[in-house]
Amino acid sequence: MSKQIRIGIAGYGNLGRGVEAAIAKNPDMTLVGIFTRRAPADLVPLGPRTSVYAMGALAEHQQAIDVLILCGGSKDDLPAQGPQLAAMFNTVDSFDTHARIPEYFAAVDEPARANGKTALISIGWDPGMFSINRLYGEALLPDGVTYTFWGKGLSQGHSDAVRRVPGVKAGVQYTLPSPEAIERVRSGARPELSTREKHTRECFVVLAEGADAATVEQAIVGMPNYFTDYDTTVNFISEDELRRDHQRMPHGGFVIRSGNTSEPHAQVIEYSLQLESNPEFTASVLVAYARAAYRLNQQGQIGAKTAFDVAPGLLSPKSPEQLRAELL
Ligand code: NAP
Repeated sequence: MSKQIRIGIAGYGNLGRGVEAAIAKNPDMTLVGIFTRRAPADLVPLGPRTSVYAMGALAEHQQAIDVLILCGGSKDDLPAQGPQLAAMFNTVDSFDTHARIPEYFAAVDEPARANGKTALISIGWDPGMFSINRLYGEALLPDGVTYTFWGKGLSQGHSDAVRRVPGVKAGVQYTLPSPEAIERVRSGARPELSTREKHTRECFVVLAEGADAATVEQAIVGMPNYFTDYDTTVNFISEDELRRDHQRMPHGGFVIRSGNTSEPHAQVIEYSLQLESNPEFTASVLVAYARAAYRLNQQGQIGAKTAFDVAPGLLSPKSPEQLRAELL
C-alpha cells in the first residue's frame, strides 16, 4: 500500500469520537492524535493508544499531519478555528449554519490560498450529501421541485427548548417526517406542502417533582418559533426510561426531486438516510473527504471548497482504474 494519509483531529466531542472510530475503518489512514482546548489528561479517547495533545501543540505537528479534521461546533468554534487552522493545515469541517456558509467560505478561502492549503468546508450530510443530491436533482430534472424531509431525528435545539420549560426535569425532542407527505411527493405529484404537513414533533419529557403534566404540555406545544407551526405530541416518561431509550442520536431524512422530462413522463429521484448515530455518520463522511482534501492538495488545488467541488472518485480509496472496472 502507498503511504498512509496522516490525520489529526481538532476538538473531541461527538464528532471527534466519530472521526476516531471512522479512521480505524479506513486502512489507508492513520491517526496522529487528538488536539483539544481542554487539559489532554482529562480526555479519554476510544483507543487506548491514541495520543492526546493540547490545541497549542498543533504548530509543532504541522509536518506530521496531512489533513486536520475540525470537529468543533459550528456556532462558536469553527468561525474562529476554521480560518486560523486553514492557514496551517489542509482541513475538513462540517460547518452547518446554512445561512452563513458564503461568509465562512470567504473567511477560510483567503488564509488557505495564501498558504497553499486545501480546506473542504461544510462536509457531512446536511450540508453535505443532501446538498449534492439537491444539486443532482435540479441539474438532471430542471423542470421539477426538490423536497427535503428530516428525521426521524433528535433535534438538539428543540430538545434544549423543551428542557427550559418550567416543570421539565429532562427531555428530548424528535422531528419526524410525515409519511403521507412523502408518499404524495413520491407519487410524482408536486404538492405544495405547509410546514405542518411536512414534519411532526414528538417530545419525551421527565417531569420535575410536583409539576403539572397538562401545564407543561401546553407550555411546550404553545411555544412560538419552536412548536406552534407543528403538530406536537408530548409523552411523559420516567428518568429510567429516558436513560434507557433516548441516549442515542438518531437522524436522517430524504431528498426527493420530482420532475417531468416531458408532459406525460414524471420522474422521481430519491436519496434517503437512516442513521442510528448522526455524529458517527457525519464523521465517516468527513474522513472520506479527508482523502479527497489530501489528493486535491497534491494536485495543487488550493483554497476553500465544498462538496460541490469534489469529484466522487477522489473520495474512494480505490484507483480510477479500479473504480472504472468495478463500479462503473
Ligand atoms: P460537541 O460534542 O458539542 O463538540 C464540540 C466541541 O466542544 C468539541 O470539539 C470539543 O472541543 C468541545 N467539547 C466536547 N465535549 C466537551 C465537554 N464534555 N466539555 C467541554 N468541551 C467539550 O459537538 P458535536 O456533536 O461533535 O458537533 C460538532 C458540530 O458538527 C456541530 O456544531 C454541528 O454544526 C456539526 N454537524 C454537522 C453535520 C452535517 O451534516 N454537516 C451533522 C452533525 C453535526 P475541545 O476538545 O477543543 O474542548
